[in-house]
Amino acid sequence: MKIAVLTSGGDSAGMNAVVRAVVKAGILRGCEAWVVREGYEGLVRGNSEALSGPSVDQAVSVSLPEAASAVHGSSFNLIHNLRFGDGELLKDGTGDYLGTRSLKGRYIVRVGFDDGGTLIGTARSKAFRTPEGRLQAADNMIKEGIDALVVCGGDGSLTGADVFRAEWPKLVERLHAEGRISAEKAQAHAHLKIVGLVGSIDNDMSMTDLTIGAPTALVRICEAIDNINSTASSHSRAFVLEVMGRHCGWLALLAGVSGGADFVFIPERPPTAEHWEDEMCDTIKQHREVGKRKTIVIVAEGAIDCDLKPIKADYVKDVLTDRLGLDTRVTTLGHTQRGGRPCAYDRVLPTLQGIEAVEALLEATPDSPSYMIGIQENKITRVPLMEAVAMTRAVSAAIEAKDFEKAMSYRDPEFKESFEGFLSTSTLEQKKLPVEQRIKVAIMHMGAPAGGMNAATRAAVRYCVRYGHTPIAVHNGFRGLLDDNIHELSWLGVDSWMARGGSELGTNRTLPSVDLGAVASKFQQHQLQALLMIGGFEAFSSLLTLEEGRKYYPAFHIPMVHLPATISNNVPMTEWSLGSDTSLNALVDACDAIKQSASASRNRVFVVETQGGQCGYIASTGASLVYTPEQGMDLDTLRRDVRFLKTRYTLDAKGKSEGRLVIKSERGRIAGLQYRGDNQDVKRRGGITVRCSFGIAGTHAPGRCTIPLDRARAVRLSLKCMAFIERQHAKLMSQPSKTRHATPDSAAIITIQSSSLKWVPVQEMVAHADMQNRRGKNPWWAGLKELAETLAGRPQLIGLH
Ligand code: ATP
Repeated sequence: MKIAVLTSGGDSAGMNAVVRAVVKAGILRGCEAWVVREGYEGLVRGNSEALSGPSVDQAVSVSLPEAASAVHGSSFNLIHNLRFGDGELLKDGTGDYLGTRSLKGRYIVRVGFDDGGTLIGTARSKAFRTPEGRLQAADNMIKEGIDALVVCGGDGSLTGADVFRAEWPKLVERLHAEGRISAEKAQAHAHLKIVGLVGSIDNDMSMTDLTIGAPTALVRICEAIDNINSTASSHSRAFVLEVMGRHCGWLALLAGVSGGADFVFIPERPPTAEHWEDEMCDTIKQHREVGKRKTIVIVAEGAIDCDLKPIKADYVKDVLTDRLGLDTRVTTLGHTQRGGRPCAYDRVLPTLQGIEAVEALLEATPDSPSYMIGIQENKITRVPLMEAVAMTRAVSAAIEAKDFEKAMSYRDPEFKESFEGFLSTSTLEQKKLPVEQRIKVAIMHMGAPAGGMNAATRAAVRYCVRYGHTPIAVHNGFRGLLDDNIHELSWLGVDSWMARGGSELGTNRTLPSVDLGAVASKFQQHQLQALLMIGGFEAFSSLLTLEEGRKYYPAFHIPMVHLPATISNNVPMTEWSLGSDTSLNALVDACDAIKQSASASRNRVFVVETQGGQCGYIASTGASLVYTPEQGMDLDTLRRDVRFLKTRYTLDAKGKSEGRLVIKSERGRIAGLQYRGDNQDVKRRGGITVRCSFGIAGTHAPGRCTIPLDRARAVRLSLKCMAFIERQHAKLMSQPSKTRHATPDSAAIITIQSSSLKWVPVQEMVAHADMQNRRGKNPWWAGLKELAETLAGRPQLIGLH
């Protein structure tokens, strides 16, 4: 099959990763892979001179001698930057490989997925909207023998794709009738296969939880908010930020949650009050009265009031200035939101989806619908493309009909929860519970610091303040508790904690077993009625000890919860822990910088060591070679890998060999021996002349600043923990006070399993834990490592599926 991939509509980070994945997966599955430059415009123009070169470039399978003789470097300006698919993909380590070259053998190209935007260009094509334009596009495709297309773009691009596919038989008939193609060609290309991937920074497509580029845009927005925060605070100013999102408030809402904003305006949920100005001013006035020195208001591009009248940033600014006398500035982030390097999520997601797109094309039949590849509940999905587009349009229709409840109901559950989370953590409006329902909640950080610990604490504290509970900070874990290092936290005291990495409470690895009796007496002395532990495997082990301690110590008969937060992502049964994505981003940043140096130095292999203990999650996300503790390694593997690297260097053009990355988890071992830091094995055994450098990305693995998705997740999970504590507390209170007995399910861990939140009692989790190696027994990400390496060309024992 000849598969072409194009990017269309507005560009978004991650589109290059789509192209890379489709081309590589296509070649690995024995297809010819093509790229179409400039979106549909490139399809329509074909080899037009106007584009000063062919618009359709081909990547073909070739044999070793052919690839070696292919000329490197592009001869066209338009494709100058196109660096495409690590050309050579080793099939089985024997020297057979698949190569990438241009239609006319002009260049071998390489797409780095660390580049933002789309290197093959995107466009909005008027011509493709017309039947004549689509006829021309079909003609160009058939001439090149292409009848399978992967389109990455927004809902417009995907609609165009569906129109094209529906019309295809008629277009072929017409081309034949006009004598432009032969009868054989018409018959051979009777059907078009199309798969859509959603590249859109707005996250506005229904039936997928995330669109490609949205996480990176959110990172850009939150970087801006974090930067603005310091100047706003210094001058006690208000800032109104306008962010993208014409029909979808995802970016504005998530930025509001993770940027710690005071007020947000989104299209799906306009302010309820007719005079929203009063509502906004009251909220902000309250914040100022408790001592807040800065105000951040976020306005989505498409924000409206309940009468559909647009709410504009300049007007919001005037209201804040005139009514509250605040020195207010407007910042419109504009296209900075689109740009820049993709975050880790926008590399992993498009890679998985690109591979799935190729599989969907290979399985397509004339009767199957065109699919859109999405992600739902952490699973890559195929949904009928037009159904997703129709559902997306239904949101806009509901907004236009002022049916905002309906518009919200079409968004995924996380969207609604984020909205509730924003209200709970931004407002000072009190909803105090009756005195007997109020709880003294101890909050503790455990184990190594991880991104999101502070954001989760901030959310819990603000929830407590709102409902009349007392949030107690326990500093430095159980050691701090034993030293009475505790104090009450306030709404304002945690205001700036959202973005901060590390642990504001302080954390260590001391377990309660250090002196369980003394810990129980401290629980009693401080009259703690609930415990929220935020941390990794230590927090899980501590919870287990405390739950088992209930046999002897009544003080532990209180609700106790563990919110997983660890860079290692090694807490059993949960697919994500707070901080693991932040550390993945820190690692990706470090690797990008190292790769730059590696490329500049030529002939150099960089071995990067990551943290992660006995869990290889953060190491598993992309390099030429990855070593994890789960898989281990032996000398045979190492020898084979060195042969692979050697071949890769041999295939590089003379004087142009690139540096390569080997990622190694800190506990990666060779046949039971610690892998040697100086990597002399890699160097000597293969007899290659490359130099090996060794870098430790581990030291900054926790990340300096928590990434927005970790912050938003921290808020959501933390509020769930508080609701759980309230439920369990009410259950306990319903028992006679002298015989109160907490049930085992009141000591539980909040887990994310297939994107649904599940509470797992600590005793139940033990069965799923590898206590010796401190990790879960069946990690969901086990296949990622092989996938990353397969795409990089490492000889694998497994196929793509
Ligand atoms: P973004 O979300 O960034 O705006 P998009 O894919 O929705 O991306 P559009 O400008 O709506 O962007 O569409 C991109 C291209 O898709 C259009 O320029 C046009 O070539 C094609 N297209 C859109 N709608 C149709 C349609 N109904 N029929 C044929 N082609 C279409």
